[in-house]
Amino acid sequence: MKSKLRAIFGSGTSLYLGARISGAFFVLGMYVLAMRSMLEPSLRTLYFAGMACFVVGTLCVVGFRLLAKRTSIERILFITLPFDLVGLALLAVSAFPFEDPFYAFYIGAGALYAAVFRRSSAWIYAGLLTISYLAAHLTGMHTTLGLPAYVFVVMKATTILLVGFAVSRLMEQQVERQAFLEEQSLHVAELNLQLERSVAEMQAIAEISEIIHSTLDFDSVGPLMIDILQKVLNIPAACIFVIDKAKQQTLFSASKGLRSEGTYSYTGPGVIAEASLADDEHFACMELLDHNEMLVVFCADTRHIDGLDDDDRMVLSAVSSELVVAVENSRLYKLTKRLSVTDELTDLYNYRFLQQRLDDEIGRARRYSKTLSFLMLDVDSFKAINDTHGHLIGDAVLADMGHVLKANVREVDVVARYGGEEFSVLLPETDAAGAFIVAEKIREAVALHRFTDEDGERTVRVTVSIGLANFPAHADDKESLLKAADDAVYQAKTLGRDRVRAPRIRMTRLGRPTAPDRTTEETP
Ligand code: GH3
Ligand code: MG
Ligand code: MG
Repeated sequence: MKSKLRAIFGSGTSLYLGARISGAFFVLGMYVLAMRSMLEPSLRTLYFAGMACFVVGTLCVVGFRLLAKRTSIERILFITLPFDLVGLALLAVSAFPFEDPFYAFYIGAGALYAAVFRRSSAWIYAGLLTISYLAAHLTGMHTTLGLPAYVFVVMKATTILLVGFAVSRLMEQQVERQAFLEEQSLHVAELNLQLERSVAEMQAIAEISEIIHSTLDFDSVGPLMIDILQKVLNIPAACIFVIDKAKQQTLFSASKGLRSEGTYSYTGPGVIAEASLADDEHFACMELLDHNEMLVVFCADTRHIDGLDDDDRMVLSAVSSELVVAVENSRLYKLTKRLSVTDELTDLYNYRFLQQRLDDEIGRARRYSKTLSFLMLDVDSFKAINDTHGHLIGDAVLADMGHVLKANVREVDVVARYGGEEFSVLLPETDAAGAFIVAEKIREAVALHRFTDEDGERTVRVTVSIGLANFPAHADDKESLLKAADDAVYQAKTLGRDRVRAPRIRMTRLGRPTAPDRTTEETP
């Protein structure tokens, strides 16, 4: 029972139905309390008929609510309208002697129909109710009442029409306001979405900037950066390049979602750059930024490139500006890092780097009980070369010496300019005998090499004296190793130059001297 009641009252028509049922009770109450005893039999029959029409209309509404729940209120009203028109007219005629008690019903019905139907239809329904009212009153009235009574009825009938019109107008305004509010809320929702997207984009730019600038050596930055870009732009596969236009060199590249690594080559200003992106034929590239020597290019599926809106382009352009600055910084950082450990004239490692490597290698050799050797080289009578050929040729000889040295050692060996015309070679995991062979090879190579003179001819002959020291054979720490090598160079010099020497003494672990070393043999 409860659920049935809910079914009847639980929707938009419930108010209407409630009003109808109350009305039905009112009509019935009037009949029981007054009309039955006060009306003459013919009018009582009319009243009864009107009441029956009203009740049938109400039952129709109940029926619809129970059996055809989806029926719209407009349809229900359309069906109940004839019952109401006839019913109200009959009730009005029969109750005429009682000062028009059903006028309120007419006004209520007019307002209700006007509220539900559009203005054009509302006019018709209000008009029909007005006609019903007029018909009922004009047929039921006694001609003896005179003209004023007729005028009065017409005025009341007109009021029904006007109330209907006013309500329909109000409802229309309400609907318009609602539509306006809905439109505004849609607009606000759209703005909200745009704002959310902008915030996401700003966050992405900030995140990417932070990642880019978090390191100067940003090989690891690429994947993270492209990942964020992909998400914010909603692009499944993309790549970004920073190209050095002058050198035609890719300085930075990051890709994601490609079937294989993409490459990009710059073909010149104004020329559409060529991108080879593996099998991805549908890829297109766009230049994001052309800054000094650098060009930033973004490639993705043609469809996505075409679909990029202004906001997307703003994100890409912001990211590329950051990227260019970061690439420039990284280049400078790498250059500075290289210069800080390199000797400018010879392009060999410098003294500082050598000291650091010696510490590291001696530490390693000590930890793992390994050996290492150190060669100290001094160019013989270099002052004479300067005096004969000039300082510039002296510089060129030193630079060329660097090439000769590097050409005669392994990749793992560390060749450094110790200072002035002195060089050194650190030979990890090499014992004294092995180091002696390397030293001899170097000495011979230098002696056979012809260095360039001021006329560009290879006529300058140079020799080197080499001192050799081994850890732990000749020394047990860095300082004593350097001293041992230095002493050995001194010996080589005093013995006539162009030779390799090693210390005559061997150090024990405790730093005490032992028997002479085999490698102290004199070389020519
Ligand atoms: P020794 O065989 O005893 O080593 O004789 P040396 O002339 O090589 O030795 P000395 O220490 O007397 O002279 C070293 C010279 O090397 C003096 C210096 O002007 C020169 N020299 C040092 N550094 C450079 C450099 O960078 N460029 C040039 N051109 N000369 C340098
Ligand atoms: Mg010297
Ligand atoms: Mg010298």
